[in-house]
Amino acid sequence: MKIQAQNIEQDLKDIGSFSDEEYKEIIREVGFGCERCGKCCTSEFNDHIFLLDEDAQKIIQDQGREYIRPAPYFDLCDNLGRFYVMGYALKTKPNGNCIFYTGNSCQHYETRPRICRIYPYMLHREPDEDGTIDFRQIGGLNEHGSYHNKIDEGACKEILRAVKEYESGFLRQQLGFIEYIRKYFVENNLRASKQMFDRMMRLYQKGEKIEVYVFYESTIEKNILYI
Ligand code: SF4
Repeated sequence: MKIQAQNIEQDLKDIGSFSDEEYKEIIREVGFGCERCGKCCTSEFNDHIFLLDEDAQKIIQDQGREYIRPAPYFDLCDNLGRFYVMGYALKTKPNGNCIFYTGNSCQHYETRPRICRIYPYMLHREPDEDGTIDFRQIGGLNEHGSYHNKIDEGACKEILRAVKEYESGFLRQQLGFIEYIRKYFVENNLRASKQMFDRMMRLYQKGEKIEVYVFYESTIEKNILYI
């Protein structure tokens, strides 16, 4: 797999020790205000809403399984042509907008997934213009909502807590997925195949069914997908 478990473990440690003061300063500087414009719910801004397991559980319980799908950009394919991905995402409408985005607003705003709550304050390792990789705050800055609002200390702390919780949860899910797949491949005598990945994607684009195994609640679930 492209992503190494050691890198994720290091990212987890780094997120934990990322300076609260430094990040609160970023939050104050950005001063984002959600104006419920809904842009971040459209394909213009996001092509999918990734769900941590707890988010997926809640949606399955409250709305039903028909609202989730395997997250796009599958992580790998085995030599038998089956794809694997580290979690679920919310379904999208045919125009690419979020399935919950209706009439210019979120139909489940109060219970929206965690990634929607922290947007646009995510904290990922990203390269800068010079290629230096470090934790950076990303997410459609200055393209939606309002900026440079005053964010008080209590709100800053809450955003900081939510961002760190989400990002750590994401990395833990990624780590769990890598460890599970390594063991699963050894036990089942499988190997990752880039050639098979490309071949099966071509068939999928032509309308063939594919099998996608999604890592969810510490195991993998089989999904059948077709366009
Ligand atoms: S769940 Fe709601 S807030 Fe999140 S992208 Fe969908 S419509 Fe927007």
